[in-house]
Amino acid sequence: MPRLFVVSGPSGVGKSTILRQLVPRIPGLSFAVSHTTRPRRAGEEDGRDYHFVTDGEFDRLVEAGAFVEWAWVHLYRYGTSKEALRAGGDGDLLIEVDVQGADALREQVPEAVTIFIEPPAFEDLEARLSGRGRESGREVEKRLQTATGEMRRAGSYDHRITNDRVEDTVEHLAALVKRVRG
Ligand code: 5GP
Repeated sequence: MPRLFVVSGPSGVGKSTILRQLVPRIPGLSFAVSHTTRPRRAGEEDGRDYHFVTDGEFDRLVEAGAFVEWAWVHLYRYGTSKEALRAGGDGDLLIEVDVQGADALREQVPEAVTIFIEPPAFEDLEARLSGRGRESGREVEKRLQTATGEMRRAGSYDHRITNDRVEDTVEHLAALVKRVRG
């Protein structure tokens, strides 16, 4: 049975950078690509980072029962499709979801390994989110608000990793995956 590694962490903690470096380092591990209604950012690729869809397309997928889980996060909808979970074939899958997604996946796949990536301090998130200048002031506010709630849920994950330096965090995660695989 392929293993499912479920990764969460507050916005601004550096998850995407970490996971993008981790996946190619581990043979037999692929990234499950989610669907989202969020607009594509510069540097993101449709089908690699997310399947970017309109609200109407997302509605249709929900109605068709295409998602294992989906949730509103910040201002947009995000979902894991059944198809994304199959795409890994016999290999293991890494999936990035928010805390709601992790709750849903834990219920449906009890053997999933859940990992929470946290910042050394909350102020780091604020600095990163404002500093990268990617989101509007309103969205940064919203993301920080969500992050406060998410950080309270860190204890419900099997593993917690503090992201001090990206390279170290990638090492930690790679070691964790190897350990779980046995
Ligand atoms: P971002 O917009 O920064 O790429 O992602 C925002 C949040 O959505 C992150 O917390 C990320 O983990 C979460 N997310 C990404 N894909 C999914 C998904 O398929 N389902 C759920 N529930 N959350 C997701």
